[in-house]
Amino acid sequence: MQEFEPVIGLEIHVELMTKTKLFCACSAGFGAEPNSQTCPVCLGHPGSLPVLNKQAVEYAVKAGLSLNCRIASTCKFDRKQYFYPDMAKNYQISQYDQPLCADGYVDLEVDGKKKRVRIKRAHLEEDAGKLVHGGDGTGAAATLVDYNRSGVPLLEIVTEPDLSSPAEARLFLTKLRTIIQYTGVSDCKMEEGSLRCDANVSLRPRGSTQLGTKTEIKNLNSFRAVERALAYEIERQARVLAAGERVIQETRHWDEQAEVTWGMRSKEEAHDYRYFPDPNLVPLQIDQEWVEGLRESLPELPDARKQRFTEELGLSDYDAEVLVASKDVADYYEEVLQHFGEAKTAANWVMVELMGLLRKEGLEITACPVSPENLGKLLALQEKGTISGKMAKDIFAEMFSTGRDPETIVKEKGLSQISDVEVLAALVDKVIAAHPESVADYRGGKERALGFLVGQVMRETRGQANPQLVNKLLRERLDR
Ligand code: ADP
Ligand code: ZN
Ligand code: MG
Repeated sequence: MQEFEPVIGLEIHVELMTKTKLFCACSAGFGAEPNSQTCPVCLGHPGSLPVLNKQAVEYAVKAGLSLNCRIASTCKFDRKQYFYPDMAKNYQISQYDQPLCADGYVDLEVDGKKKRVRIKRAHLEEDAGKLVHGGDGTGAAATLVDYNRSGVPLLEIVTEPDLSSPAEARLFLTKLRTIIQYTGVSDCKMEEGSLRCDANVSLRPRGSTQLGTKTEIKNLNSFRAVERALAYEIERQARVLAAGERVIQETRHWDEQAEVTWGMRSKEEAHDYRYFPDPNLVPLQIDQEWVEGLRESLPELPDARKQRFTEELGLSDYDAEVLVASKDVADYYEEVLQHFGEAKTAANWVMVELMGLLRKEGLEITACPVSPENLGKLLALQEKGTISGKMAKDIFAEMFSTGRDPETIVKEKGLSQISDVEVLAALVDKVIAAHPESVADYRGGKERALGFLVGQVMRETRGQANPQLVNKLLRERLDR
């Protein structure tokens, strides 16, 4: 393995969240009754004609722009011919030599250094239907086909072979997903198939600039699968090469259970598909002013947001990275800041307490029972000293389970912290009088005795005394 270095390129399919399909008016929604969202166009009936969905082009352009691509001023659609039962027309409408988007990049941070991964192209195409293996419920072996997905718009994003490890591939995929999610054109849910990834990998002698023979791995259903399958395939190829044999260019299938890849078919070449321009669709002319308008409509993207969080809010690189990894989390965080200005404290609460409870309850932040405003108010109460840090956590748990605001909870439970000097001074005096030995210990140099005395005052107040203040009052008296 030491002699070889891996070279990896990814092909990613992203389902665009349009209401309707790419070339017909059928709903593109996920999860409906099988074959309930079909029509003559997406079933490939004779005489039916495709009509391009402008929204899909708009979403594809937005995604392309977010990946720093150049947007073509003209492009066309081509037919890619092959037979598979999930594709009724026996060809897929795709883009061959004129992709809508090309020459982009995504910057990663690898071992503290910037690494640029080039995007070769991103083109629009239609999705195929879905085969459901395993029977029709009558007990007979059967494969069923659901054409609801047939014709749903996809953006296929192809990277240059710029990735050099399975971990890097995963990092890239995570970043890509975040960026696309920011643009709002896809939810990128790998488990629902709205983000799919094929991984290409080859080995070459370390330091060489020539590319080795690659294999392409399909059926990768999670980020983990991408990483594991690549690691497996790299080892397999290394063994082949070390034995003096040649890697065969082919498409391989990742078996999730067995954690191995196996050869599916020899790789088809572009000419096998007999691409030609779809005669039913006119070439597309893209108005560059329209494109500029779309560029302006893009939200602040993760890299820019991270930079703002570190430079303007003073957050650490790590905190900023965690927060911007999800647009919803970063939005939530910024709304908390509308009600509480201490950025670092707010970041800790969102990252630790809030995300911790969300994870535990299996909730998305968009379904969070605590509003950003209420979290901000809670933190303000803590900052003012009305409640202690410990109380804030308890109140937060209660806010999370009931959705109520912190002030009401504090009032109802009589929870506010005792910071009244007169009240506390009286208690401190009482405790000092009751524990002469501890007082003597402290005065004799045993710092720990002070902790005991603070604890006694806390007990008297059922934990509601302001501990810093109790500490100060005790020291004032004992150090006299
Ligand atoms: P093909 O024509 O075989 O589909 P492409 O040039 O379209 O190949 O590339 C498909 C994907 O494979 C791209 O993501 C590309 O980066 C990657 N790729 C191409 N050649 C190699 C290689 N030798 N090793 C690893 N990945 C590669
Ligand atoms: Zn249809
Ligand atoms: Mg290709």
